[in-house]
Amino acid sequence: MLAARSLRHAALAAWVAVGVASCERDHRASREVSGSPGPDAAPEPVASASAVRAPLSVEETGPSGTRVRVRRPVTVRFDREVSSDERAAVARSVAVTPPGRLVPDWPDARTLTLAPAGGWAPGRLHHVEIGGDGTGVARTAWSFRARVPRPRSVTPGGGARAILTFDDAPARHHQADELLDVLRRLEVRALFFPTGVWARLRPAWVERAVREGHRVCNHTLSHVDLTSRRLTEEDVRREIGEGATDGECRLFRPPLMAIDERAERVAADLGWELFLWDVDPRDWDGLEARDLVHAVLGRIRPDAVVLFHVHAPNTVAALPELVARLRRAGYVPSWDPADSPGAVEAGQPGLREAPARRWADALRSLDGGTHGPASPSSLP
Ligand SMILES: [Zn+2]
Repeated sequence: MLAARSLRHAALAAWVAVGVASCERDHRASREVSGSPGPDAAPEPVASASAVRAPLSVEETGPSGTRVRVRRPVTVRFDREVSSDERAAVARSVAVTPPGRLVPDWPDARTLTLAPAGGWAPGRLHHVEIGGDGTGVARTAWSFRARVPRPRSVTPGGGARAILTFDDAPARHHQADELLDVLRRLEVRALFFPTGVWARLRPAWVERAVREGHRVCNHTLSHVDLTSRRLTEEDVRREIGEGATDGECRLFRPPLMAIDERAERVAADLGWELFLWDVDPRDWDGLEARDLVHAVLGRIRPDAVVLFHVHAPNTVAALPELVARLRRAGYVPSWDPADSPGAVEAGQPGLREAPARRWADALRSLDGGTHGPASPSSLP
């Protein structure tokens, strides 16, 4: 009786809420059906146990690929017709991460479509799973990535900076060299936040970065979570105190965006200034180059700090187009206030109030002039 009632309840609800709060799957939570009936809410006959037919198999699923349109519905084609009694339970067996509300439809008796009510999360990898134990559908799972739509407009830079920053340290060392090559060719001056361990092993790379106009700053000694309870205050002091620097940069960016009162106090104590970011295109997550360009252009503001990662797979490929389009929109791709004197000194009213000023202002303390290579003794 309980099963029959829950089937009836499911048949009445056309809005299927799927998804969970994080990538850790929780199918119980992700298969809840919301109470509000949708457009297909016509009552259907209660299914009896004897009406349940042979398990369904999935013949075809979609979409797939790395640049799926944000409104494209999920499609599942089954090996046989799905009776009206079965449909609600079949739709309920779908789980999607990250979460989103899906609207089910049956264009024909063998095909289920689920349209994302608010669109897929741009740039995110989506995992879809249908069926499994007790659902009457053989378990099938697949993934796709939603594209980042081209922004309708780009906020004008007005001669202000776009401050490109690159965190972490690649296992494949040539990635770090390649990045310097591309930045030199594009005449971009960037901020780097490698770990202290990585920078200590590569003094020549640090020297080259500084010689070519970049800054190398603190991202802790070994990329730890500074808020971890396993770390003593002494550990935190060592992690921050032995972070990378080019000898002049006093900017400190905590790994994993994890900062608490203790870490902030220790950093200030040691003379480091907290430096986060304004725009995070999630390049570490494997977005295609074109999506990275759109993600940054959609959120760029005068003097905004953009977060990239040296080890990200498509960042180097995205830079030529990104930098060209930033320049076309009136941005100077540099950390150095001296490179955008018009925007800073003339005090264009709109620019001074930009929220991005908070991080950009920290760069005023840096020496903007030509700067020789850091001496080995100044390296961490
Ligand atoms: Zn990091």
